[in-house]
Amino acid sequence: MAVPSNLIQAGYIVAAVLFILGLKGLGKPRTAVRGNALGALGMLVAVLVTLTDNRILSFWQLALGLVAGAAVGVVLAVRVQMTGMPELVALFNGFGGLASVLVVGSSFLEVRDASGDPTTTFTLAAAATALIGAVTFSGSLIAWGKLRESVGVLGFSGIAVFNGLLFAGSVLLGLLMLGAPTSIGLLVAITGAGLVLGVTGVVPIGGADMPVVIALLNSLSGLAASATGFALGNSLLIVAGSLVGASGLILTQIMCAAMNRSLPNVLFSAAPTSSGGTDADEVYGGRVTSTTADEVALLLDTADRVAIIPGYGMAVAQAQHAVRDLTRTLEANGTEVVFGIHPVAGRMPGHMNVLLAEAEIDYEKLIEMDQINPTFGQTDITIVIGANDVVNPVAREDPESPIAGMPILDVDRSRTVVVIKRSLSPGFAGIPNPLFAADNSLMLFGDGKQAVSDITKALGEI
Ligand code: NDP
Repeated sequence: MAVPSNLIQAGYIVAAVLFILGLKGLGKPRTAVRGNALGALGMLVAVLVTLTDNRILSFWQLALGLVAGAAVGVVLAVRVQMTGMPELVALFNGFGGLASVLVVGSSFLEVRDASGDPTTTFTLAAAATALIGAVTFSGSLIAWGKLRESVGVLGFSGIAVFNGLLFAGSVLLGLLMLGAPTSIGLLVAITGAGLVLGVTGVVPIGGADMPVVIALLNSLSGLAASATGFALGNSLLIVAGSLVGASGLILTQIMCAAMNRSLPNVLFSAAPTSSGGTDADEVYGGRVTSTTADEVALLLDTADRVAIIPGYGMAVAQAQHAVRDLTRTLEANGTEVVFGIHPVAGRMPGHMNVLLAEAEIDYEKLIEMDQINPTFGQTDITIVIGANDVVNPVAREDPESPIAGMPILDVDRSRTVVVIKRSLSPGFAGIPNPLFAADNSLMLFGDGKQAVSDITKALGEI
């Protein structure tokens, strides 16, 4: 059945507009669910229009493919744990890169078998897709393995130089293709180099930096799709790929800035570790005051304003529902409760927002770091639950510290700070935290979920 070309073009425009509206919606928690739905609808329109435009499949085959793909997507999305989300995103990025390589490969064969040489645009776009798509595919699989802790930090001395030479060699092969635009051998060689580069580029990077690497690979999967769009002359693919490329790059930049690290530092050096200069005994020796849930409940009972600071430990303890119950108990008692959200709290972007939203905590109570910091002076009690690095004052005070310059939540400026964690063990950066020994700090040692439930119970008994 032939579909009029005007309708096809209109379909492309509708899909592009839906992608842009979807991205805009994802920028705010209030509109994020709608944004996600708009993006998914845009993708459905895009798939249908593209397949119809190119008369690739009959409609029943098309429907079968959609149902099969959607079924796999639904099963994955329903089964994945929130903490497993970065792994799923890594796989999606990888398959995006692979899809670009396969599409451009088949288009290359089609063009080669037709009479006449391919255009320069096609040749360059095909070479770029093969390289970027292959890097994205193999790099994402390694990132996935690292997040599952089945791939450790590997490498050899001079691996950065090797990667630089491999990249330069791949670009050279791409330029050679201009002289031999129908050479499948060159395209396969570029793809092979890209696959190796993805592996050797990601293996030396520590597992904890994988969320940043995944944001970057997400951006690369967008660039690969965009390059495919140039090869196929498909403007929708160019628009959608550019949106993914740009948003992935912006996210990478935000994450690096929030950790006070540059992208080259993440990609080419190990994650910062303890300088060895600060000894935990020196920081804590005899100065840590521990408390009990009953004592904390007594303090909270008279507080007017309470700030809760969640961190990675809240995710580990799965304490978000217990935190919601505590919030409701405090509010019923007339206490104002707000949440301070650090951009890199936890182990993935938006980690805390997602967990708190899952527990149905009103997003209007979630206050970003820059907004909440000036208010700690007027906060009676700040409860830090499983956060460590993001509240460590050495970031402000010690230029030698591995986290020097990282913006932090200034919880130490509150009147009283209650820190809930199991021990004095360090967080991701591996350094002691003088907050735990500060005069206005009380440590409530224990599992986050249990400790918060105990406080709520004690509050109810006052
Ligand atoms: P941290 O990793 O600094 O600290 C987490 C703390 O949680 C630990 O000190 C641990 O102490 C405690 N904890 C663990 N399990 C539990 C539990 N069951 N109950 C209570 N406490 C627990 O976390 P932050 O969120 O403060 O900081 C995030 C760090 O991760 C930053 O350094 C950031 O740069 C880094 N990072 C973040 C990324 C992101 O995208 N968000 C990506 C990559 C890195 P104890 O063992 O004593 O209980």
